[in-house]
Amino acid sequence: MQGREDSATAPGFATRAVRTGHHRTHEAEHSEPIFATSSYVFASAAEAAARFAGEQAGNIYSRFTNPTVAAFEERLAALENGERCVATASGMSAILAVCMGLLQAGDQIVASRSLFGSTTMLFNKYLARFGITTRYVTLGDLAAWDAAIEPRTRLLFCETPSNPLTEMVDIRQLAELARRRGCLLAVDNCFCTPALQRPLELGADLVIHSATKYLDGQGRCVGGAVVGDRQRVGEEIHGVLRTAGPTMSPFNAWIFLKGLETLELRMLAHARAAADLAAWLLAQPAVERVHYPGLPDHPHHHLIGTQQRTGGGILAFEMRGGQAAAWRLIDATRWLSITANLGDTKTTITHPATTTHGRLTPQERATAGIGDGLVRIAVGLEDIADIQTDLARGLGPAPTD
Ligand SMILES: *Cc1c(COP(=O)(O)O)cnc(C)c1O
Repeated sequence: MQGREDSATAPGFATRAVRTGHHRTHEAEHSEPIFATSSYVFASAAEAAARFAGEQAGNIYSRFTNPTVAAFEERLAALENGERCVATASGMSAILAVCMGLLQAGDQIVASRSLFGSTTMLFNKYLARFGITTRYVTLGDLAAWDAAIEPRTRLLFCETPSNPLTEMVDIRQLAELARRRGCLLAVDNCFCTPALQRPLELGADLVIHSATKYLDGQGRCVGGAVVGDRQRVGEEIHGVLRTAGPTMSPFNAWIFLKGLETLELRMLAHARAAADLAAWLLAQPAVERVHYPGLPDHPHHHLIGTQQRTGGGILAFEMRGGQAAAWRLIDATRWLSITANLGDTKTTITHPATTTHGRLTPQERATAGIGDGLVRIAVGLEDIADIQTDLARGLGPAPTD
């Protein structure tokens, strides 16, 4: 952050979200510039040599570093309260870079059973090929995490709340377990963002983001990030990215920088609307069960207000009548977006069993708790009454023919 005066106190979250990472160029631009350049010129052959040798700091090539991407990294690190952030081409490449940077053949991951579909796929199909195995446990069952850890376990991996069931784990307790057993804890913080939850402050070692979701906030770009300490993130994980290449484009970094500026406002509005919608769905006879951390009957409701500021913007619910009822509901909506994305100003509705989790085997889906009647809604910023009206079209009794 560039300030005119020294401040005795660190800037607050909202200030960091708007200002951190912007170091104006000599053009004195007010908005962050987009450095659309693949490479950088040196003043002399000696300077080029010094840069390549690592003796002089500075940009060389945009696969290694780029000032717009660096601004995004600095800002997100400040919001997550981490030492370093590296931006990636997508959320999945952030997870891949963590695994490639920190693990080797023979290592084991212990992960929560309820993960984003592609994460499970990455672990089971691709990492397994390179000798990295994964054991799965129930997210909130700390005794199961403890029992699953073996001497070769190096990484504990979870999402909290999970996608799409909004299961949670006590991050403090899981981080304590990781430390005691000599493992690292990585938390995919996609659902909460640092506006609602900061896993590093609770003891996690690494935070992973799909910037595609709430950090962008308007469904424009695909991107990701890893935040953590200087050595692991700045050296080991960044090393994978600069060598293998799944880095963030400067244009996308600029979009995400703008997204971060309104992150807290949006997250609080999404969460307010989701809490209203959860209560409303609970009262619908066609709905069997609602999964939302803000509801008092959620098994981890006690973590709201301590670990996580609010229940967040995403909920899932089970329709009586399985897939037919879920599809009927989705198809009856007129303007809710039928899309797998989430974290958008536009409300999105998804049938996880046949989309995000469709590539899992029926057995894998069953263990992940993804039922055929499950519907996920990522609540946007429209008027809540209109969202309810659109959903009500498909919540009545099924037409008989
Ligand atoms: C979307 C998502 C990812 C993957 O991010 P991409 O940007 O799509 O690669 C990972 N974790 C969670 C929880 C997600 O929702």
